[in-house]
Order: sequence, then structure tokens, then C-alpha cells
Amino acid sequence: MRKQSMLCDLCGEGILEEKQGTNKVEYKSATKDLIVDFCECNECGVETALPVQTRNNKRRMIAFKKEVDGLLTGAEVKKYREALKLKQSEAAKVFGGGVVAFSKYENDDVMQSDAMDKLIRVAFASPEAYKLLLANASINISTNVVYPVEWRAVPKEDSGKTFSIDSIVNDSMNIPTINPSQADWRDCQ
Ligand SMILES: [Zn+2]
Repeated sequence: MRKQSMLCDLCGEGILEEKQGTNKVEYKSATKDLIVDFCECNECGVETALPVQTRNNKRRMIAFKKEVDGLLTGAEVKKYREALKLKQSEAAKVFGGGVVAFSKYENDDVMQSDAMDKLIRVAFASPEAYKLLLANASINISTNVVYPVEWRAVPKEDSGKTFSIDSIVNDSMNIPTINPSQADWRDCQ
């Protein structure tokens, strides 16, 4: 909970309370009850979402979509990148995607393309392929890259119809984002 209470802009009397609920979402015929963060006025009952809540909700939705599509999760992308001894900026040079691409992949702000996903996996599966990518990017990794045995043979993932329970994903499709002009709310963050 935030220390500073947030006054409801709609009724001007109530206090916005941070809540968490679930929202059933659908993606490519897969459905899941996702956690959703929002605020609710204790007087008029209006629901809204702070920018940080909206961002987290979007990230959960993107993580869900990645699972459905069988893509690496943000955490997995990070794990792979770190095992390849690459900084985020270097990973962008090696694999493409732009300067902040890996920050976005790893935070589940965007979904990596299918091609990007495959390229990352190939870099793990094949040291030769990875060396070629490094050479093309003019990056010299002096330390020996560790290839965990279990990553050499990248398993073909389930086509995305099943999801692990502890993978927290959700969205707030029905909750409007707070109006940027409501500066007093933004200041509360
Ligand atoms: Zn209110």
C-alpha cells in the first residue's frame, strides 16, 4: 500500500485503494485467469489503474502470450543472455532487435519475434553458430561461454496449450488507464 492516500478524482471524496483481482483472458483459444492490479474508490466504487499497475498488467499478459506461443519467457531470455556472457546492449548487436530490445524482452514489455526466439535458442544449441554471430557483430567474448548440458539440446516446447501454475500472467483489459492529466495521482507513485 502506498503511504500517501489517493483521492478519487471522480467523486472527489473517496480514497483509491489498491486491489488485486483476476481477469479471464483469451489468446489464440487459450484462456487463463490472470492477476490484475487496479485501484478502487471506497466511496463511488470506480475502478481505475495507475500507470505502474497498467504496466504490470500488460507485462503479465505478454508473458501469457509468450507461453501460448511457445516463446522464451522474459526470465529465460535473461538466463540465456547471461549464460552467453552478453550485456543487453551486446545481445542487441549479436541478435538484432534494437538497443533496448533485450530489456523489453526480459521485462515482458514486448514479445520477441519467432525468428529472434529461434536465433537465441540456436546460439545455445550451437557454439559454432554463436561464434559466427559474435564475429558478425564484431564482439569478442574472451571468457569461455558456458553451455549447460541441458541447453545444448533445446527441447521442443509444448505448443503452448499448457501453462505452468507459477507463471503469473494477467491483464486488465476492462480497467481504463489513469488519465495522464491527473497529475496528483501520478505524483503518488
Ligand atoms: Zn470515487
